[in-house]
Amino acid sequence: MVRHHEPGPRAPRPFPYDRVDVIVVGAGPAGIAAAVAVAEQGRRVLVLDEGLDVGGQIWRHRDRSHVPQIARRWFARLDESSAIVSCGVSVVDLRHDDGAVAVVAERAGEGHVLRASRLIIATGARERFVPFPGWTLPGVYGIGGAQALLKQGTSFAGRRVIIAGSGPLILPAAASLAAAGARLALVAEQAPPPAVRRFALGLWRRPALIAQAARYRLAFAGTPYRTGQWVTRADGDDRLRSVTITDGRRTRTIACDVLCTGYGLVPNTELARLAGCETANGAVVTDGRQQTTVPGIFAAGEPLGIAGVDAALAEGEIAGRYAAGAVSVPAAVVAQRDRARAAALALEAAFALRPDVRALAEPDTIVCRCEDVPLSALDPAWSAREAKLYTRAGMGPCQGRICGAALEHRFGWPRDTVRPPILPVSLSTVLHAPSAASASLTPSAP
Ligand SMILES: Cc1cc2nc3c(=O)[nH]c(=O)nc-3n(C[C@H](O)[C@H](O)[C@H](O)COP(=O)(O)OP(=O)(O)OC[C@H]3O[C@@H](n4cnc5c(N)ncnc54)[C@H](O)[C@@H]3O)c2cc1C
Repeated sequence: MVRHHEPGPRAPRPFPYDRVDVIVVGAGPAGIAAAVAVAEQGRRVLVLDEGLDVGGQIWRHRDRSHVPQIARRWFARLDESSAIVSCGVSVVDLRHDDGAVAVVAERAGEGHVLRASRLIIATGARERFVPFPGWTLPGVYGIGGAQALLKQGTSFAGRRVIIAGSGPLILPAAASLAAAGARLALVAEQAPPPAVRRFALGLWRRPALIAQAARYRLAFAGTPYRTGQWVTRADGDDRLRSVTITDGRRTRTIACDVLCTGYGLVPNTELARLAGCETANGAVVTDGRQQTTVPGIFAAGEPLGIAGVDAALAEGEIAGRYAAGAVSVPAAVVAQRDRARAAALALEAAFALRPDVRALAEPDTIVCRCEDVPLSALDPAWSAREAKLYTRAGMGPCQGRICGAALEHRFGWPRDTVRPPILPVSLSTVLHAPSAASASLTPSAP
């Protein structure tokens, strides 16, 4: 692997290449598997990731000696491959034509146009935030954000923490906070007890998952884990002081310093939508070869819907092989993908958010944090676009990545518009980088 990792404040050097066979956006499990597969087919591949290291949401924050065996294997394969990896690089725009793709990427505040014959979108997912009274108070975190802070060294030791939300991701969050010395008061799962029980029973064919869940539960064995309970409000002054929890009949208020909420993940589809790839139910549509509806553009992992690391790895490998021109992939890899996607459907059904959770925001609850827009400013009869025009909801620095999903969830407004740049960029990139719209797709010498 050739590493080109330069996120620091020094003046950026030019990229040492202009055109490769395949560009992979995202160096999480899907992007790593894709890059390795392309390189192993003898093609020149460039992997771009906005993070400071490879590994994506689950692996990149950890010391390499502490990642699971499977992660170490993939890191080793990537290191040994000819893939060129560039971290600290955000892809913000793209243009494609028959057999050619140009992406606009920003590195250290400077814009670049990079070209390839094929593109693999492996941009992962982000946390879903559900607005409720008090959700913007200091001390209220998304569970992914809290975990990232923890992995970067923030201390939660001795702090009284409540974890509330839905789905299996609340278990590792609870386990790591407990291991870091937090005083966990409660772990609340909003899904009804029968749904969680049915899901757990359905895991009998996946003993590794049962063992993993048991390990997590053991790590916070002294803390109650309650199903069918959810947060209705958080209260405090300059910081969080208490959280109110209900099971729909009884309500109680618990004093705490930290609330971590996790209501599932939202696929990052912006880049794919910018390319004109078809989406359905908020996820990118692909065929069996992982090709999107735009020829030459492939997608793998969470942009296709939330299905976990096994699906991401298998889809990455399939996308990489086909993008590199292979005519087939091993049946075992296809079977791994199909199994993981089927399991994801069961998970989605078991942990579907109850209508009560959708309706927690009150008229004065801020729903767009960037632009301070309260729920009462929005008319359910509008579209997301009208909400933008009339109130600026979704027009702040996050460009609707947080409130877009929340409002889609509350009002059923589809996130149907996307505009470059898809991530905040410096003025210099906007002014000086050749925009993808005008970038020449003519290949330079390979
Ligand atoms: C906040 C969070 C916490 C999670 N915690 C856990 C956990 O504890 N345990 C667990 O099993 N699973 C966890 N997951 C789920 C896990 O990430 C997935 O199951 C799986 O790893 C997905 O792999 P992926 O490669 O599809 O995506 P990711 O691992 O998300 O990788 C996508 C990569 O794309 C990069 N990227 C995105 N957009 C751009 C762009 N425009 N330009 C450049 N780079 C870009 C991102 O920086 C990221 O590194 C978490 C997910 C999230 C979002």
